[in-house]
Amino acid sequence: MQWKPDRHFYRIVWLLLISAFVTGCSHSEPTLSHQIPDHAFVIRNVNLISMRPGAEPLSGATVVIQGDRIASVNGQIPRGAKVIDGRGKWLIPGLIDMHVHVPTDGHFNTTFPTHTAVIFASTQDVMTPFVANGVTTVFALGAKAGHFGQRNEILRGDVVGPRMALAAMINGGDEAGRTVNTPSDGRQAVRSAKAEGYDYIKVYSQLNMETFAAIIDEAAKQQMKVVGHIPNAFKGNVEKALIPHFGMVAHAEEFAKQSSDYSNEDAQRFAKLAKDNGVWLSPTLIVLERIAEQARSLDSVRNLPCLQYVHPLLQNKWLTANQYNKGASPAGIQRLEKMVGFNNRLVEAFKEAGVPIVAGTDAGGSGVVWGFSLHDELALLVKAGLTPAEALDSATHLPAVWLGLDGKLGTIEGGKYADLLLLDADPLTDISNTRKIAGVFVNGRWLDKGTIGRMLSDLSRRVASSKDKWEWSKRTEY
Ligand SMILES: [Zn+2]
Repeated sequence: MQWKPDRHFYRIVWLLLISAFVTGCSHSEPTLSHQIPDHAFVIRNVNLISMRPGAEPLSGATVVIQGDRIASVNGQIPRGAKVIDGRGKWLIPGLIDMHVHVPTDGHFNTTFPTHTAVIFASTQDVMTPFVANGVTTVFALGAKAGHFGQRNEILRGDVVGPRMALAAMINGGDEAGRTVNTPSDGRQAVRSAKAEGYDYIKVYSQLNMETFAAIIDEAAKQQMKVVGHIPNAFKGNVEKALIPHFGMVAHAEEFAKQSSDYSNEDAQRFAKLAKDNGVWLSPTLIVLERIAEQARSLDSVRNLPCLQYVHPLLQNKWLTANQYNKGASPAGIQRLEKMVGFNNRLVEAFKEAGVPIVAGTDAGGSGVVWGFSLHDELALLVKAGLTPAEALDSATHLPAVWLGLDGKLGTIEGGKYADLLLLDADPLTDISNTRKIAGVFVNGRWLDKGTIGRMLSDLSRRVASSKDKWEWSKRTEY
């Protein structure tokens, strides 16, 4: 049969031409090579924690990286490979944060199709905190068009950033956005999101019961997985919300909201419902901890060491228009503290019931900083009862499985993407050792400790120098 170029062929040629043009014109950052190097890398004599199910850690391992892939584990070392000494170090898969909100370009005025962005988020500045912390894949819940643009910048190699899985949010009520209040509108919203290129659906709090059920059903038909909140309409009827194809609940406190007494019986009842219906849990313990801290005092935000990497406009918002601190009452703070305690017992109960738990942070919410917060979450998961190995699983292999990407990432195996985190100490003896980063491979690009340090200090300097220009209360004037 003769091959004839079709529509797709021309489209690919067109895209290649455009990307060659753009790459040729783009200026490069002085401290960072954005391109995947031609030569191979080999990490020698490293303690390997592959996170392959059932695999024991290997000492003295050799890992070869070629292009954007892991070429082999304990295989042949290609000639000319650049050697990274892994002695006294530990290698784990790049981390996955299963719940983030990423700033994009935008404006705060009335929306018109012709109204372009007036506040710009440098994609590299937004992504640096992720990669500097070894976070090489993120699940953006509530994604919008700007995130497709960011994803392309990363894939094109103009920006060093994590892989981005994008979920379209569907809510009920009458707010702007993708809001639907009837089952047929709910189904159409799912189909539209699919047509726009989203792979996942996020359901939100104001959906009514019938519309929620229709969205879950339509998403299953469209082969889109669903993550999200348990809508408020299900209060007292949680068993009607936890149904097959509702793939994952996005916060532990979605269950806390369903409990009147925060009892262990309730925690176990919710865990059984989740287990029976195949619903996973992303507890996002860190965001509730941060909310409770902020209700007590904003010093918790002011004193965050990683605040220096947050865009000044958001810093200003977190400190001057903080919804958790404004009007916080002693009774409210007490309730939050009880919920924090119940969240921990939920993790314990869900673990015991055998419900897969994945690490998410809700990064982008006030006080929860991209990348840094995932290490906080891992520590909190261990505090709540996971072993360090289970915590690592919750941020590597398990998220890859949920996202349907476990053939490509989440473990260290030949053929998978070269997303790797090299550590100076053993995370299995102390989970806080995930913060002791010796270097990161992001899609085959090696960022050593020095490069990461420079990326962060550059970012911090840029944020500090523009700090006085941004005030949250004036956001609509920009
Ligand atoms: Zn969120």
